[in-house]
Amino acid sequence: MTSAPTFSFEFFPPKTPAGERVLWETIRRVEALGPDFVSVTYGAGGSSRGRTVDVTRRIADETTLRPVAHLTAVGHSVAELRAIIGSYADAGIRDVLALRGDPPGDPGGTWRPHPQGLTYAYELVELVRSLGDFTIGVAAFPEGHPRSRDRDSDIRHFVAKCRAGADYAITQMFFHVEDYLRLRDRVAATGCDTPIIPEIMPATDVRQIRRFAELSGAAFPEDLAHRLEAVRDDPAASYRIGVDHATAMAERLLAEGAPGLHYITLNRSAAAFEIHRNVQTIRSIDAFPSHR
Ligand code: FAD
Repeated sequence: MTSAPTFSFEFFPPKTPAGERVLWETIRRVEALGPDFVSVTYGAGGSSRGRTVDVTRRIADETTLRPVAHLTAVGHSVAELRAIIGSYADAGIRDVLALRGDPPGDPGGTWRPHPQGLTYAYELVELVRSLGDFTIGVAAFPEGHPRSRDRDSDIRHFVAKCRAGADYAITQMFFHVEDYLRLRDRVAATGCDTPIIPEIMPATDVRQIRRFAELSGAAFPEDLAHRLEAVRDDPAASYRIGVDHATAMAERLLAEGAPGLHYITLNRSAAAFEIHRNVQTIRSIDAFPSHR
């Protein structure tokens, strides 16, 4: 029997009281949908890291949601990482997305591990695994990680990370379904069956999405870019294009057997909710085909 695809949402720790209010309104709406989990990103450094821990704990304490705490190795000694993981366990949080992270301030800069820290995500997976009964996620890159020498080593290192103890992976944002399918098939060909959940980023604002795509190294499709550029001063039209594009991608990914969908919300619910609703509607129609 195949299980139903999961759906989940990603938040980031807000910087201001107003941002905090928006996040919590979104969290309450997300809660009503009953997702499989929600995740909270971990900042590159400084006070946002404490906010990640606070938001994640509050979700665990005050909602029925299952929070997944992102954690990176950036700037932390192993002792600090142990303490953070221990504080999650004390708060009843058993889900960690274990990441290497990027150099703070310059994601493309030279990566230097903390002198008493870790160099690769697989080591963080091993550390979390050694500290208790956690469900562990890792990052996957449909277009290959920007620092990887070639696709073979990229896949090899990804599979090693899974074998170190990851239960599932979530992808970087991407805009071509074929990139996801290629990654999934190449990983499966090695005998690794770790589920890889695609991340869905609604492209509703061309300026913002170009910046994100640049930072993450994701190739942004020129045809979509042109359509968004043509309506760049019309937020309603941009929203429509972004939601329709993401809905089509999400639907195709599920039809191709993706194990779930992880929606980036940017702490606002409208676009992610609409895509989720569209996908549910299409799938419920497909599940009950007309006999005429
Ligand atoms: P790794 O798996 O360690 O890979 C990094 C590079 O090292 C890759 O090129 C890999 O091929 C190579 N490598 C791995 N193992 C070896 C080895 N043994 N020998 C040689 N090379 C090796 N960043 C944040 O700061 N905060 C977040 O909350 C956050 N959330 C994310 C969520 C998702 C779903 C994704 C996809 C990314 C997220 N990131 C986040 C970004 C992530 O931290 C960066 O993309 C980072 O550059 C890679 O992290 P990783 O865990 O994949 O690293």
